[in-house]
Amino acid sequence: MSIETIVIVGAGQAGASAIIELRQHQYAGKIILIGDEAHLPYERPPLSKDAILNPDETKLEILSPQKLQDLNVDVILNQSVQKIHRNEHVVELTNGNKIPYDKLLIATGAAPRRLPMLDALGKHVYTLRTLEDAQALISVLQPKQRLVLVGGGVIGLELASSARARQAEVTVLEVNATVMARTAPRLLGDFLLIQHRQAGIDIRLETEITQANIENDHIVIDINNAEQLHADAIIYGIGVIPNAQIAIDAGLDVDFAILVNENCQTSDPDIYAAGDVATQLRENGQYRRIETWENANLQAGIFARHVMSIEQPKANPAWFWTDQLGFNIQFAGDMTVTDWHMINIEDTKTAGPAFVIYGLKDDVIVGGITVNAARKMRAIKKMITSQAHFESLIETA
Ligand SMILES: Cc1cc2nc3c(=O)[nH]c(=O)nc-3n(C[C@H](O)[C@H](O)[C@H](O)COP(=O)(O)OP(=O)(O)OC[C@H]3O[C@@H](n4cnc5c(N)ncnc54)[C@H](O)[C@@H]3O)c2cc1C
Repeated sequence: MSIETIVIVGAGQAGASAIIELRQHQYAGKIILIGDEAHLPYERPPLSKDAILNPDETKLEILSPQKLQDLNVDVILNQSVQKIHRNEHVVELTNGNKIPYDKLLIATGAAPRRLPMLDALGKHVYTLRTLEDAQALISVLQPKQRLVLVGGGVIGLELASSARARQAEVTVLEVNATVMARTAPRLLGDFLLIQHRQAGIDIRLETEITQANIENDHIVIDINNAEQLHADAIIYGIGVIPNAQIAIDAGLDVDFAILVNENCQTSDPDIYAAGDVATQLRENGQYRRIETWENANLQAGIFARHVMSIEQPKANPAWFWTDQLGFNIQFAGDMTVTDWHMINIEDTKTAGPAFVIYGLKDDVIVGGITVNAARKMRAIKKMITSQAHFESLIETA
């Protein structure tokens, strides 16, 4: 059966990449992109970094109107897909319009996990996912403003770094015993903890908000039932929830996120999912959801190749990055192992520390992190792919 119409729900990273990949792989049929935001697809990684620090010089656009026209894409913005009618192969929009598809890609991303206790305050409380969220933060991240950031994960620390650069007074509340505990080994978390504290950011570990109120137009929070903090604003980043409701309603297999096979196909062969909303069956036989820019692009490519019956390339180690306090930190491979070894890099052009951390399983390199040593990343990925031994790396060093 020829594929006449592909509908992509979600005009974000994966949605935009899927368009590019489909056309690169010679898909000549109709593409309809449906997004519930007012914008054409834009990059989210700068939202916690350059979009706050240098908004005028930061390019966010992924696909320009001209490019979308050249790629012959029908774009529908400001409309969310409310329902998938699987039997009729139709999606229904907020305005009631029904759009038919032969193949459907769900690329709806994720939304910040909510903290009702803070949302109930009604004002001075922020989260960060969209361009509007970032724009709202620019007026909050100001000199002398007292900010409390809830969550010492990637976004919390990037925001802490940006807020400090704008001379705000920053306190980070983290429930774990170190920062970035969900995404990075303790060794890196502890390094970042020291750096942030040295930069004047007050990081409180093993700390929870027990009460929050507004008094005289500022926020008063109780932490660990023991201490009170006063803040002009609270920003919280405590993880995300996949936007999977339309898949749940359509009866697709969903386990927190939408379950997809190695080809990003859901339990309905005509419906695919990619990006933050998808949990994919990986080479090791386990399902894993990866919330990164690279993963959204890669899964969009997997979807496009599968639709076009093109063989999939061998998977590379997963990769992502974060920028904090002038440190560019890149990660590849498995971050869950417990055996990590740091090697300092001497001949760096960057001032300050630069090093690589290798993650080992029985001496085999399975993960790697570069701190201000991005040029080492390509070699690290190769070592992971070739299952190189750390011992031989040390011998040749
Ligand atoms: C502030 C911030 C900083 C980040 N920094 C980094 C970084 O440094 N490195 C890194 O690797 N990753 C980073 N990420 C993560 C990365 O941006 C995401 O993993 C990536 O954007 C996921 O792409 P996606 O297409 O799945 O989702 P999104 O880009 O979120 O796109 C989903 C789109 O679908 C829309 N949508 C949802 N439901 C519907 C519906 N029913 N109908 C129509 N449209 C719908 C959403 O509004 C959204 O526009 C960052 C994310 C954020 C928020």
